[in-house]
Amino acid sequence: MDPRGKVAVVTGGNSGLGAAVAARLLADGARVVVSLDLAGDPPAGADFFACDVSDAASVKVAVAEVCAEHGTVHILINNAGIGGLGAIATAEGPGDVAAFAKVIGVNLLGAVNVAAEVAYAMIYNEPSGPDGERGVIINSCSIASFGGQEGMGAYTAAKAALKELTLVWARDLSRYNIRVNGVAPGFMATPMVAFLPPDFVSELLDGNEFPKRAGTGEDFAAAVDFLIRNVLVNAEVLRLDGGARPPARTQFGSGQ
Ligand code: NAD
Repeated sequence: MDPRGKVAVVTGGNSGLGAAVAARLLADGARVVVSLDLAGDPPAGADFFACDVSDAASVKVAVAEVCAEHGTVHILINNAGIGGLGAIATAEGPGDVAAFAKVIGVNLLGAVNVAAEVAYAMIYNEPSGPDGERGVIINSCSIASFGGQEGMGAYTAAKAALKELTLVWARDLSRYNIRVNGVAPGFMATPMVAFLPPDFVSELLDGNEFPKRAGTGEDFAAAVDFLIRNVLVNAEVLRLDGGARPPARTQFGSGQ
C-alpha cells in the first residue's frame, strides 16, 4: 500500500520506534498520522489521541474518535509496549504474577484490543491500488518472539503470541484484502531500554553478527515501510536484529 493520502494509526507513537515510524509516514505523504498513546507529545505533525491500549473501552473510544475525525484507518502500526523482567520463581519467593499480567495486558491484549477495533474499520475501506487493498497492520514483535532470555517470561509470552497472531490475523482478514505483518527487532536504542547498564548492552550487541550496534528508529521505520508497501508480503514477521541469536543469559543474568 502506498502511504500517500492514507490515514495511519501508530500506537505508542509518542516515543522510540513508534515516533520514528510516525515521522516517516508523514514524510512519505500519509494524509494523517495519529499517535494513540498514554500521554505526552506526538512527533511534529502527528495527531494525538490519549488511549490506554490495555483498556478495551479506552481503545474503542479512541478508534471511534479517530474514525469520526479522519474517516477511517488504512494503516495500523500496533506498537505500544512496555518492558518487564522477572523470573517465574527464585529462592526468595514466587515470581511476581501481577507484573506478568501487566505486561500481557499491554503488550498482548493491548495489541488485540487495537487490532480488533481498527481492522473492523478497515473492512469498510474503499479498495486501493491495483490489488484492491483495504488495510495493512504491522505488529511490533521482538527478537524474544523467537525465544526469550532468562527473566523475560512475560515479555516473551506476549511477543511470541503476537508473532503467531500475525499469521492468524492475516488469515482472518485476507478475505477483506487486509494484510498483517510484523517486525521483530533486536536491541534498539529507545527509552524503553535506556535504563540497562552499558556493559549489559555491549554484551547483547556483541551477539549480533553484523552490524554490532543498536538498531535505530530509522532502521525500524524502513522495515515497516517495506512491509506496508509490498503487497505480496503477508503473514510475515521480519527479523531486524543484525543476525543475533541471543544466549540463554548474559553475565548480568536477567539484567535486573
Ligand atoms: P518506548 O518506551 O520508547 O515506546 C513505547 C511507547 O508505548 C511509549 O510511547 C509508551 O507511552 C507507549 N505505551 C506504553 N504503554 C501503553 C499503553 N498502555 N497504552 C498506550 N501506549 C502505551 O519503547 P520502544 O522501544 O519504542 O518500543 C516500541 C515497541 O517495540 C514495543 O512494543 C517494544 O516491545 C518493541 N520492541 C522494542 C525493542 C527495543 O530494543 N527497544 C526491541 C524489540 C521490540
